Amino acid sequence: MKRKSALITGASRGIGRAAAAAFAKGGYDLVLNCVHSGQELNDFAKELQAEFKIQTLCCCGDVGSYEFVCRMFAQAADFCGGVDVLINNAGISYIGLLEEMSYEDWERMLHTNLTSVFSCCKCAVPYMVAQKSGRIINISSDWGIYGASCEVAYSAAKGGINAFTKALAKELAPSNVQVNAVACGVIDTDMNAGFDAAERRCLEEEIPAGYFAKPKEVADFLYQMSEAPPYLTGQIIAFDGGWM
Ligand code: NAP
Repeated sequence: MKRKSALITGASRGIGRAAAAAFAKGGYDLVLNCVHSGQELNDFAKELQAEFKIQTLCCCGDVGSYEFVCRMFAQAADFCGGVDVLINNAGISYIGLLEEMSYEDWERMLHTNLTSVFSCCKCAVPYMVAQKSGRIINISSDWGIYGASCEVAYSAAKGGINAFTKALAKELAPSNVQVNAVACGVIDTDMNAGFDAAERRCLEEEIPAGYFAKPKEVADFLYQMSEAPPYLTGQIIAFDGGWM
């Protein structure tokens, strides 16, 4: 029997890397992506293959490019026939006032964080619909619901992901393909490496759970979501320690 497969974007570091480990442990063959850290991703994939006796395919490239995403899914089709679970995780942040943000930075933020989700879903969906089975999980943020000062483009992209998730879930529910999003609060990854110790303490005090979640906590939840009853679809689930 064909093993299940998952494609995870942004799998070299942080949440995506932890998600790759969680799905490898669950026996999935993996298509893993990142844009800069190709060597690290290859080494990590080899470790997962050896430890969990799974197959991996690494595709290094920019998910903001529709052409690259099409090539990645063509390779995935050769590798495993098609993708059963898609985790749209790759993302970047930009912190600064809107009036100081260039048009090029806005475009880069929207392409990387939102257009990538369109492109990956567009390529993943035909196989899922044909199988009448599939799971899409988009990694969103509390800021996509509430908005954050000095993160207008990031908030807009994540808000776009939330609406995209709800709309696509309606389109695909009749085909038994579930689409959900996880709106993360503060996760302990490189994305938050800019906080100094005092800022970090301050933020931790604001979070009822009292700490930044570890990437593994998100990853384990993503795996659980991939196994949730199919009636769970179209949801934006906050994973934020009760913060918002
Ligand atoms: P991270 O540690 O900075 O890792 C980002 C990952 O995305 C890396 O694997 C990176 O690859 C990849 N990536 C970036 N741009 C890419 C592109 N254009 N094409 C392909 N891959 C790309 O970030 P993280 O904290 O794990 O964040 C993962 C997701 O969670 C993002 O969507 C983020 O917005 C969301 N999120 C995070 C937090 C948080 O507190 N950390 C909160 C809410 C939401 P390279 O290594 O090659 O650069």
